[in-house]
Amino acid sequence: MISVQNYLPGKRKNTASGWISFNAPCCVHNGESQDRRQRGGIKITDQGWSFHCFNCGFTASFILGRTLSFKARRLLQWLNVPQEEIERVNLESLRQRNIQGILEDRQRTAHTVQGIEFEDRDLPEEFALVDRNMTVHYQYLRDRCVPENYPIGMIHGNTDDKFTRRQGVIIPFTYDGRIVGHTRRFFDDHNPRYIHDMQPGFVFGTDMQQPDWQHAIVVEGVFDALSIGGLAVLHAEINDAQTRLIRSLDREITVVPDQDEAGMKLVDRAIELGWAVSMPDWPDHVKDVNDAVKQFGRLVTLIHIFQARETSRIKIELRKKQLAKRLRH
Ligand SMILES: [Zn+2]
Repeated sequence: MISVQNYLPGKRKNTASGWISFNAPCCVHNGESQDRRQRGGIKITDQGWSFHCFNCGFTASFILGRTLSFKARRLLQWLNVPQEEIERVNLESLRQRNIQGILEDRQRTAHTVQGIEFEDRDLPEEFALVDRNMTVHYQYLRDRCVPENYPIGMIHGNTDDKFTRRQGVIIPFTYDGRIVGHTRRFFDDHNPRYIHDMQPGFVFGTDMQQPDWQHAIVVEGVFDALSIGGLAVLHAEINDAQTRLIRSLDREITVVPDQDEAGMKLVDRAIELGWAVSMPDWPDHVKDVNDAVKQFGRLVTLIHIFQARETSRIKIELRKKQLAKRLRH
């Protein structure tokens, strides 16, 4: 294997979450001016790499066991990797083709066949990855148990723009590895706490589902999903397009509502859809999955969710009544 590191420009910066940023080589090939603010980011693992340019929007990724995509080849060329080196990477990769690659291809094909697609969207102009030195942003993500490997941007809150004067974070929405929207979450708890750029029918977190997982957990909020590796419908309802998308994943579904009044509406919808529901017996101050992960950790929260999982309509209704009663007090 070549290590792509060897071909990155000398001037670069490592972020706490494992991204390497450097001046992106793509922009001049995409009608933009040369990046001088290190807006290219690459994350390299044993399994491959993923590149995002926050200047011209170019993205490319490579997964060991898969063919080098057209975009991945272009990026390597722009990084001046010799052509014979690129071909060697491709051959090496195919030799290592594994079951994971086959499953992911199948998933992608299933999405295309079912016509579930979203258009590419740009991230906001100010997007820059959170790094270790930005203690407020970094600390916020740690407090909310967001996995280190999810790329999240900062809102500094220092301009006059009405959307950006408040400090916060920007969470990209991805689908099949492409950016299709985002949400801003502000740190102050004034309304609105979130501003979404979200396409109809979008469900957050499909890219976090591993091919060999049999279950998917459906939650309301983006932080609930991030902290447990779940799917977020981003409000207290599941519309028909979201239902189709979730079904296309072909997993056992468990809906975990917020333990508040809006959450109870989600329970009714889950019953309608014939999906399992879990309402663990959490202490009063634990209102949602993210609270639970903060309190108990990810593994224990998962255990609570699976222990409280109900598929029988009658049992779900009973548990809902019990919980609704508690919420009134
Ligand atoms: Zn670029």
